[in-house]
Amino acid sequence: MTIACPCCRASNETPMCRRCKADLTLLVAVETRREYLIEETRFALSGGGKALPMIAEAESLRSGSDTAQLRALAALLAGDYAGALASNRYIRSTV
Ligand SMILES: [Zn+2]
Repeated sequence: MTIACPCCRASNETPMCRRCKADLTLLVAVETRREYLIEETRFALSGGGKALPMIAEAESLRSGSDTAQLRALAALLAGDYAGALASNRYIRSTV
């Protein structure tokens, strides 16, 4: 996982910015939680679990095309075609 420093925009793989030494611990914790939620969502989608609450929490941390893809898939599996189409439009707008 790489974290872009909000101070100097350097890419980092450690909780301390390699360039300006900013403490990135909280950003790493947020991204770690988000990655956990995305993995749990994939597991839920493959096994019929409740995926939407986990997608919502992951999006509250940081929305992106990855969460939109999972939301579209969850909507398709639930028969919510309008929701899937809306997520697909979001994905296309970010590419
Ligand atoms: Zn920095």
